[in-house]
Amino acid sequence: MEVFALVGAVWLAGYAVACCVWPYAACKGCSGAWKRRSPSGKAWRPCRRCGGSGRRIRAGRWVVQWFRFGSRAGR
Ligand SMILES: [Zn+2]
Repeated sequence: MEVFALVGAVWLAGYAVACCVWPYAACKGCSGAWKRRSPSGKAWRPCRRCGGSGRRIRAGRWVVQWFRFGSRAGR
C-alpha cells in the first residue's frame, strides 16, 4: 500500500509541475480553433466556451492558482 501512495504522490507532483509549465489545454468546445463554423462552413463565430481564446485552463492549474491567490487574499 505504501508503494501506491508513493507512486500517487510522485504522479501528483509531476502533474502539478506540468500544470505550472503548461497551464493551458485546448478548449473542449472548439478543440483550440477558437471559432465555431456555421454548417455552411463560410461563416463563423467565436467559441462561447472559451470566449474566443481557443484554450482552457487545466484543472491542475486552477488548483495552483487557487492556492497562490487564495492564500494571498486571505492575509
Ligand atoms: Zn473554444
